[in-house]
Amino acid sequence: MLFALQELVRWLGLTVFEMLVHLIALLVFTVFLALRLDDVAFASTIPGSYDIWIVFSPLFVADALCTYFNVIVLIRLYIEGHIKEAVTRTVWSSALLFVWSLFKELENMLAVFDFDHTIVDGNSDIVAIDLISPTNLVPNRKDFPNNWTQYMQKVFDIIKTIEIPAEQIIDVVSLMRPNDGMPKLMRALYENNVDIIVASDSNSLFIYNWLKHNKLSDMVSCIYTNPATISNSVIKIEPYSVQNKCNWCSTNMCKGAIMEEHVSNTNKKYNKILYFGDGQNDLCPILKLTKNDIAFPRMGYILENLLKSHITPAKVMPWCTGEYIYEFLKSSKLIST
Ligand SMILES: [Mg+2]
Repeated sequence: MLFALQELVRWLGLTVFEMLVHLIALLVFTVFLALRLDDVAFASTIPGSYDIWIVFSPLFVADALCTYFNVIVLIRLYIEGHIKEAVTRTVWSSALLFVWSLFKELENMLAVFDFDHTIVDGNSDIVAIDLISPTNLVPNRKDFPNNWTQYMQKVFDIIKTIEIPAEQIIDVVSLMRPNDGMPKLMRALYENNVDIIVASDSNSLFIYNWLKHNKLSDMVSCIYTNPATISNSVIKIEPYSVQNKCNWCSTNMCKGAIMEEHVSNTNKKYNKILYFGDGQNDLCPILKLTKNDIAFPRMGYILENLLKSHITPAKVMPWCTGEYIYEFLKSSKLIST
């Protein structure tokens, strides 16, 4: 035998009980993991289920048991005056727990969605503009050069003058069709513990209410967009920010900066980013992706064309429907449900 049990106890700094608990946990975990990877079990389709956490649960249970055991031993050693041994044991146990927690962080993925022409099949601002009747009241885009939020504010003010309340605009936008398979894709990503954020040049009222109407708001952890409120039955929209560093994005929003800030502000380390978009302002974040990431430009839209002449280190996967993306992610084993 390579090591006697006594030697293992001395060299690893673990008791026989701890080794047994960790070995049983590891055995159960590997069985669970194999079952999940082969789609035999823990591949639930129930919204909000955390099947990956069930796979990892034996390791968490072992951590909890060993922590409880260590606290009891630590108190006893302290009471009996073995301070040095108590400190050594605490440091060792904390280090082990830290290593396990790093291991459990391995599957972190981030999905960044554009809204117009990506989640929904259309442009929410155009849907609002189409409410203006007669059409000669529609403001001229050239009167608001390079300032989309100011233009949309003018649109909302005109809609108020033709006596359409703000709530009606939001209702019409909330009824916009999602792109085929997009709700299924977002639910699948959520069930696979992928963090989902939305970055869009639309506005918070449109996006939040659309997601809520389509029962998807719980799946999205952050919405980065132009803030909007209702005041005296008029939608009031503000620019998300003021920027002039990025020429690909509009002056009120750089999606590349949004993605970078989200990644740096979270306490997670993402090992893969999935980016879904269609427009020119989706190019900037895609150029910031790494070779581990995947860019999903919508087929036949401007982003797909731009990516023919701009190099991103990320894998580029043009898409036509959410269902197509779902099947791709599933066949690539990036999601299991
Ligand atoms: Mg778009």
